[in-house]
Amino acid sequence: MNLAQVAYAAYENRDKIKRFLKWLAILVLSGAFILYLIFATIIAVLQGNGKVADSSINPNLAQFVEFQSFSYRTIYGETWYDFKHPYFFPTLGALTQGVILDSSAKVGRLHIAWDIADHQPRQTEVRAFADGVVEAVNNNMLIKTTRRWKFCDDNDYGICWYAVKETTDVQYACGYEVIIAHTDSLKSQYCHLASEPPLKVGQKVDAGQIIGIQGSTGWATGKHLHFALWRDNQPIDPSYAFLQTSLSDWEDK
Ligand SMILES: [Zn+2]
Repeated sequence: MNLAQVAYAAYENRDKIKRFLKWLAILVLSGAFILYLIFATIIAVLQGNGKVADSSINPNLAQFVEFQSFSYRTIYGETWYDFKHPYFFPTLGALTQGVILDSSAKVGRLHIAWDIADHQPRQTEVRAFADGVVEAVNNNMLIKTTRRWKFCDDNDYGICWYAVKETTDVQYACGYEVIIAHTDSLKSQYCHLASEPPLKVGQKVDAGQIIGIQGSTGWATGKHLHFALWRDNQPIDPSYAFLQTSLSDWEDK
């Protein structure tokens, strides 16, 4: 068969070829769509937004180490205090970001908290640090804000200008948030919870009680818990409470 014959045969069967190409296109597109659905589901589950069976919540407190006391001072204070009440590590996972005090750091900003991320594709419970009373339950999602664009002029002594663009909805900082007031003026904060926490302001909670699920609501790039401690609204490095044992103790591999 020479080229002319092939071309003629193709011309003769053009309807069949058209039909074949149409079905091929439909097949490829639907295959791609199914693949997209599968990957989207996997990513949603990994980020904690997907619905995972409730049985994956492990109610077994045994994995959660109970501590009895720790000594601490606030980040900017000199006085040492003791917290002598049972308390728990608030979730499962590895420490992905600790305290950052250098506000000029390129990655991250001032961050006086621990970010703890469970990399397992499951619902990961968040537990009350210690006995206390719910002080706030906030939904910081979708705050109307104005985006600002920064322009710095090196010639003009490095002066920066801000151009204000249209108002947009953006996810704000902490996402779904719980704040619990404990004894001895201590407070704990839990950010980025997956869904609205089933708690009421003024409600009593016990140390280790489940108060939410790790998520990525607010300013988060993945499922994790942002856990912060304060005394009289002065921030405390959570390391004082948890450095007594290895962090890997809370990573369930
Ligand atoms: Zn954080």
